[in-house]
Amino acid sequence: MKPIQNKLFISGKFVDACDGASIDVLNPHDNSVITRVAEAKAADVDLAVQAAARAFPKWSAMAAAERGKLLLKLADRIEAEADDLARLEAMDTGHPIRDARQIDVLRTAACYRYFGGMADKFQGSVVPVEPGFLNYVQRMPIGVVGQIVPWNFPLMFTSWKMGPALAAGNTVVMKPAEITPLSTLRIAEMMAEIGFPEGVVNIVVGYGATAGQHLAEHPGVGKIAFTGSTAVGRRIVEASKGNLKRVQLELGGKGANIVFEDADIAAAVNGSAWAIFHNQGQACIAGSRLVVHERVADEFLDRFVGLAKSIRVGDPLDPETEMGPLTSALHRDRVLSYVGVARDQGGSILTGGKAPNNAGLAAGCYVEPTVVRAKPTDRVSQEEVFGPFVTVTTFRNDDEALQIANSTEYGLGSGLWTRDLSRAHKMAAAIRAGMVWINSYKRVNPGSPFGGVGQSGYGREMGFEAMHDYTEAKSVWVNVDAVIPPHFKR
Ligand code: NAD
Repeated sequence: MKPIQNKLFISGKFVDACDGASIDVLNPHDNSVITRVAEAKAADVDLAVQAAARAFPKWSAMAAAERGKLLLKLADRIEAEADDLARLEAMDTGHPIRDARQIDVLRTAACYRYFGGMADKFQGSVVPVEPGFLNYVQRMPIGVVGQIVPWNFPLMFTSWKMGPALAAGNTVVMKPAEITPLSTLRIAEMMAEIGFPEGVVNIVVGYGATAGQHLAEHPGVGKIAFTGSTAVGRRIVEASKGNLKRVQLELGGKGANIVFEDADIAAAVNGSAWAIFHNQGQACIAGSRLVVHERVADEFLDRFVGLAKSIRVGDPLDPETEMGPLTSALHRDRVLSYVGVARDQGGSILTGGKAPNNAGLAAGCYVEPTVVRAKPTDRVSQEEVFGPFVTVTTFRNDDEALQIANSTEYGLGSGLWTRDLSRAHKMAAAIRAGMVWINSYKRVNPGSPFGGVGQSGYGREMGFEAMHDYTEAKSVWVNVDAVIPPHFKR
């Protein structure tokens, strides 16, 4: 493996924090220290914002195709170093290596490639206004963009944010989660080697309450793009008000995954297990509420619980592992605390609800795949648990299924399993969510908008929507040969 980068990346250089502070980065498999990473505070964030501001005029004036070329090179480099990068991500986050290699790394490369290609294809427009005038609309980059990401998919999420921001001509100050900064620093290293100009991307690893808060408040930042919890999302909105910076929020979710009575049960069982247990359920779009028609509930649950029990939980670096540890001990304890919450309200644990009974995993942050029977109004059916923890509830007809699906404050991902095309489209239209998957779950593609409604946030990542969100419209009026009668007759 290549040496692990553990400094801040500011103005094209890897540097220590101004006050020399650092953060231990742990491996959630056994809680051993992987490395100590420099810890950014306000002074370091200031330096990063200044570097990004200095880099902005040249970067934004560069031919869009040249910016795109650098992003395309980055995508190639990520693929060339895929094995190494996957290993680093697996160690830092607990993602099973086969997922890190086949999903995180490949989707990350695909994202940079998509936006690399997009850079010179995202165009303005000409508006048919009054005769004699030409009105054209340019999409202008915003300037310095602050980006804050959580720890659940660090490699992928930094690409979803940096890809469109850079393609559109912005410069970036990125704050990764303090517990999973390593793949982001590796990407910065690749960028430096490929020839991204200094200051175009700056990485400030630090805690949310210090570095994150300062970035969100910073008057030199034109936009803050945040992925994380709904509670912190609200704080970001507050922090951004000083200079009225633009805000984009990708927040929590409580995905309803509905299995109708006419579903292909085998496909629904498999897809629903993927929906919740991939990445140990630490996904905002996780299908964490199973809503199953009462007529097929017994058969479905029999097979679903059987599958959950058979999932191979273990060391993320073992290629046979299907589910790794949660990303931190703090988070594991939070997830396990929901077992008591479920029981207190009359819920029953159908499987899981504890750490695996395996001495080899005792030092790590492991939780067994957990299936809980609960009422739709119970806390476990309403609050985001963010772990391998799925609630199951039944319904009698489509109206009831829809009512349950739309009964949380969130509106991010959702799934439908049915062979009835007309029902599928009707339900997809009526579900309050940013994304609906029919007979599948958790599909993402750099071309397709990703984001939520309600308490799941606003704004969209990916596709043309992301390019819109990272640019401002500038309307230019030209009097070509219009004759304007004078307003003031003198
Ligand atoms: P979190 O909100 O605690 O932290 C997210 C990031 O914000 C981290 O980098 C953290 O350091 C930073 N932060 C914390 N406090 C801050 C503050 N006051 N000011 C600025 N930054 C601050 O979330 P988490 O526990 O790391 O991540 C899990 C959450 O993220 C879940 O709620 C999940 O649903 C959500 N999430 C949403 C999406 C989406 O696209 N909608 C994707 C993944 C995760």
